[in-house]
Amino acid sequence: MPEAMVASRASDSASSATTQTVDAAVVGAGFAGLYLLHRLRKAGFSAVLLEEAGDVGGTWYWNRYPGARCDIQTIDYSYSFDPELETAWKWSEKYATQPEILRYLGFVADRYDLRRDIRFGTKVTSATWDQAVQRWQIETDNGAKVSCRYYIMATGCLSAPKPPEIDGVKDFKGEVYFTGRWPHEGVKLAGKRVAVIGTGSSGIQAIPMIAQEAAQLTVFQRTPNFALPAHNGAPPADRLGALEGDRAAYREQARLSMAGVPWPQQTVVSWQLSDAERRERFEAAWAAGDLVYILTQLWADQGVDVDGNKIVADLIREKIRGIVKDPETAAALSPHDHPFGAKRPCLDTNYYATYNRPNVTLVNLRQEPIRAIAATGITTDTRSFDVDVIVFATGFDAMTGAMLAVHPITGRDGKALSDVWANGPQTYLGLTIAGFPNLFMITGPGSPSVLSNMAVSIEQHVDWVVDQLAALRDAGFTTMEATETAQAGWAQHMADCAMLTLHRLANTWYTGANVPGKAQGVMPYTGGVGPYRSICDEVVASGMLGFRLTGPNIAEQCNDGEVVRLQPDVRLVLGLLAQMNLPPLETMGAQGARDFITEFNKGRPAGRPVGEVGDGVLLGADGPLQYKLYRPATPGPHPIVVYFHGGGWVLGDQQSDDPFCRDMCRRTDMIFVSVGYRHAPEHRFPAAAEDGYAATRWIADHAAELGGTPGPVLVAGWSAGGNIAAVTCQLARDRGGPEIAGQLLVCPVTDCSFDRASYIDNATNYFVTRGLMFWFWDLYCSPADRTDPRVSPLRGKLAGLPPAFVTTCEFDPLRDEGIAYAEALAAAGVPVEQLKARGHFHSSFTMVDMVITGVPGRIKMAEALRRFAGLPPEVKPAPQKLEAAAS
Ligand SMILES: Cc1cc2nc3c(=O)[nH]c(=O)nc-3n(C[C@H](O)[C@H](O)[C@H](O)COP(=O)(O)OP(=O)(O)OC[C@H]3O[C@@H](n4cnc5c(N)ncnc54)[C@H](O)[C@@H]3O)c2cc1C
Repeated sequence: MPEAMVASRASDSASSATTQTVDAAVVGAGFAGLYLLHRLRKAGFSAVLLEEAGDVGGTWYWNRYPGARCDIQTIDYSYSFDPELETAWKWSEKYATQPEILRYLGFVADRYDLRRDIRFGTKVTSATWDQAVQRWQIETDNGAKVSCRYYIMATGCLSAPKPPEIDGVKDFKGEVYFTGRWPHEGVKLAGKRVAVIGTGSSGIQAIPMIAQEAAQLTVFQRTPNFALPAHNGAPPADRLGALEGDRAAYREQARLSMAGVPWPQQTVVSWQLSDAERRERFEAAWAAGDLVYILTQLWADQGVDVDGNKIVADLIREKIRGIVKDPETAAALSPHDHPFGAKRPCLDTNYYATYNRPNVTLVNLRQEPIRAIAATGITTDTRSFDVDVIVFATGFDAMTGAMLAVHPITGRDGKALSDVWANGPQTYLGLTIAGFPNLFMITGPGSPSVLSNMAVSIEQHVDWVVDQLAALRDAGFTTMEATETAQAGWAQHMADCAMLTLHRLANTWYTGANVPGKAQGVMPYTGGVGPYRSICDEVVASGMLGFRLTGPNIAEQCNDGEVVRLQPDVRLVLGLLAQMNLPPLETMGAQGARDFITEFNKGRPAGRPVGEVGDGVLLGADGPLQYKLYRPATPGPHPIVVYFHGGGWVLGDQQSDDPFCRDMCRRTDMIFVSVGYRHAPEHRFPAAAEDGYAATRWIADHAAELGGTPGPVLVAGWSAGGNIAAVTCQLARDRGGPEIAGQLLVCPVTDCSFDRASYIDNATNYFVTRGLMFWFWDLYCSPADRTDPRVSPLRGKLAGLPPAFVTTCEFDPLRDEGIAYAEALAAAGVPVEQLKARGHFHSSFTMVDMVITGVPGRIKMAEALRRFAGLPPEVKPAPQKLEAAAS
């Protein structure tokens, strides 16, 4: 039975004769609303769509300014839900114009007979949750009312144009236009003096077109943007071929990709490429005319690392200088205040070259801000410009503007959305809001939305929402509401993701910075389209995790919790490892496991360049041992850190933690000497411990030869290496030296007890498993020896040890013994700092260029080592010679 029938009976008393009662009310007839209506109907829901505009199209209905086009290739920026629709429509251009996209959306509306359920010219003005009947009551500006079980806002991320912030617009006697509300009949600009205010995507598209028509064009620019040539034309044959060759696979790859366009994940990092290779890649991307391509395909670090990003930004600035003839104008057009991609870059057609035209002037508002708009034109701090037309290309109150323009939206217990979002939008998955049952958003804040190909994101949202509504209906539930726990967890995950990218370093409409007084924060989900999709699926697979479900004849269900507790990149790494379906290491035998790890390490990104990397031999407890030395690029001598690699006393060698040693060498500006100590089962306890101690003594004795500062050394180690570092400190104290200034223990093994909570909670699923640890212990140390402090340092005497920095990871079996060691050190009077890394796993800090969220932790570790060495904690970045990458 369609729910409308149930609903209309239930809400008779609440509705007036003019109230339309439906299962679902959709607001907005753009890409999202149209597909929603189609899906809701197919799923058997009654639905009405309310749209302020006079027709379908959304963005493409309103944005009719000259030059308006999409900037994702149109074959990607299309619906994919119906293969027949796909073949029924052919795009004429690589980047279709606004009229063509509008025609497409009209074609879709007709094909699925959508208009009969759309009320045009109907603006939703308020929405109230009526708890008694468990329905939303919707009011509109033309008096029409709707009562619905589900209220779905497909109101668009970029549909609320931002009002101008300049005094005097009303005094202006000429014509005023907004790119986001361009007159349908067009605007005649020939022979006129035109001002364009704003150089975002719309301005950059419109300016070259206006310049061709107007007598004089003056562009007022506050913040320059990066723009790349679109090289528009027919859809490129290679992309079209890929799509038409295997449409289903192509679309699936888009759905699983980071940005919703099927480009592969780039793995090569900038420092693995020579200058010439980087330039070659850049030129190819410049010629390709594809935003997603240039944002994702140059080198893997361009979007996550300021150094990798600066290389691209410099190359684009070089292009701008090459195109724009006047050096002052070129400089003003060159962005320096944000990393490339942190603010939405634009695709252009002759944008920069337009400034070479004699009828075009650029006014740099950073140097001469607009003071006011007067009757005849615009006055800056230094000049006045008489104009006939002002075009505001000043963008949108993005992501939240259209939603909050429906005011009030009143949820459960009278909560107003404007209050709940007073400090920024709070959502669960960008789809729902705690306190607002049965309210859904399509591409809301907290979803990938504007950081993705929106066509792909919209389809995913719509499918997810309608699938859940149908499933709930079939199970007898009538309401669905996110819990506060789930929402807070999503906010944390959003913040973790935002730390991964450079978006946080730019003031943009992504962060609300373009609207005065708006709460600041990265609003779209930065974790990627594919990962986001898998999280949404995981919510369902985990029994609607984070949602409270109720219904009249069914017990309430609430499977409360946070869907992602891992750091986003840790989740990706563990996901990839799970996909590889590897046999457990402990089933491979010691040599087999070593060979496997050596092969596995070949696939990881190369470590960063340091001043010098060299090999040598030192004297261990029972003979020579290999070592690898990492020297900073700065002039020496440098303090020395003796480093012990991880691998459960069985695996690894002096170069197996190479990326970590390089990274820490750079961050500390210290020499790292990584010791190749002996391994079990060939050399069982106490070989590794005694080698660690002997190596430390040898290195301290040979500090000057190694280029180190005389005096105390430091020790550091990860996992079993952390165990060896801790033990070395105890032995050095007890055996009369060498002097150790500090110890860095990263996820150390400190005890032979396996019953702490972390051994149980994290026994499986996080790469280092309890089974693997048992195997390591068995190979290294017989049960009789396990309480010896040389393998269980927690059982040793702890007073008088050097200051320590102990890092532990939340999802690591070894977490609690690391914490126990730090606490025991502190109790014994040893100065200790702890880093309890939330959402991280055992390998987070050593997977240097895969787990980017490990950076802040490694900065803290480096600062601690510097403090232990008596240096100021802040590290001045050494000038890195990229050619040293080969070393
Ligand atoms: C110039 C421009 C170019 C773009 N190019 C691209 C691109 O290349 N690729 C890409 O992925 N994205 C692009 N976008 C983003 C674009 O907004 C989305 O791709 C997509 O069109 C959004 O569809 P939507 O249905 O979610 O929202 P919209 O298309 O914005 O539709 C929302 C609709 O809701 C209506 N509405 C809002 N509030 C109310 C209310 N209270 N009552 C009634 N109706 C209401 C609006 O009138 C509007 O019609 C572009 C945006 C702009 C502005």
